[in-house]
Amino acid sequence: MKGKTRLRPPDSRRAILERDEYIDPADGLIHCRVCGRPKQRYGVLFGVEHYFPIPCDCQKEQAAAEKREREQEELEQHVNRLKADGLGWKELQNYRFEEAQSLDPKVLVTLRNYCSQVSEKTVPGLLIWGPPGSGKSFAAACIVNEILESCQPAIMTCFGQLLEELSGMNLQDRQKHLAGIFSKSLICLDDLDLRYLTKLTIPLAVDLMNRVDHSSKPIIITTGYTLDELRHPRTDLEEKVFRILRRNTAPVYIGGPDHTSQIERQHLMNLQGTLQTHSM
Ligand SMILES: [Zn+2]
Repeated sequence: MKGKTRLRPPDSRRAILERDEYIDPADGLIHCRVCGRPKQRYGVLFGVEHYFPIPCDCQKEQAAAEKREREQEELEQHVNRLKADGLGWKELQNYRFEEAQSLDPKVLVTLRNYCSQVSEKTVPGLLIWGPPGSGKSFAAACIVNEILESCQPAIMTCFGQLLEELSGMNLQDRQKHLAGIFSKSLICLDDLDLRYLTKLTIPLAVDLMNRVDHSSKPIIITTGYTLDELRHPRTDLEEKVFRILRRNTAPVYIGGPDHTSQIERQHLMNLQGTLQTHSM
């Protein structure tokens, strides 16, 4: 090959050089001024001499950076689709561990560790319980967002609302809807409360909880019931449902101040401030 370098036909080389290119007299090939690497390779194809264009290190790096950018965009679009599918209420998408200063640091560590174990089949479900407004739904949504952002499908739906939706469906649609929910890597049923069930929704709740009992995927349930209430059911329905909860979940207590009341007070103060500004 070395002997052939001198024999290369001059017209097979590009006539016009870019500003960041030069011809290296050592090999007669176009090189990059930035990285110094060749942008051509000499070869003979079917007996004809050619200068094949090849990328220099800068071009390789640029192509790799563009590929990474494309992949990142595709990943973000994929996560956005998962979030739109898994979090019916858009506001839930903003509930993230980074914003969870109000949660007990030990609980926060537990919840974060839990997220890293969701892909393992042995991880149990979580029963997030505590007083009203303490941040149970917030904590659950933080977990669901974390799972969605790791590209695993997850869903968070309100227990009562889901039963209402199911009650308006025919059997076939109901089965399809539930199959879709339980195909996710993580399922969160928010705000479980049996006290507001009707004759129509009780059988649906039993069916739903039976699916929870037989699910191979971890289930997160948030509830206002205390552990004492869960241990001492007062009705047959509570007995059945609470037994399923205790069999499939590990309890995590979310306490602290009533954040909902704090938010309400803040809204009221904002409103009063607005009214005062307008009356001045
Ligand atoms: Zn270069």
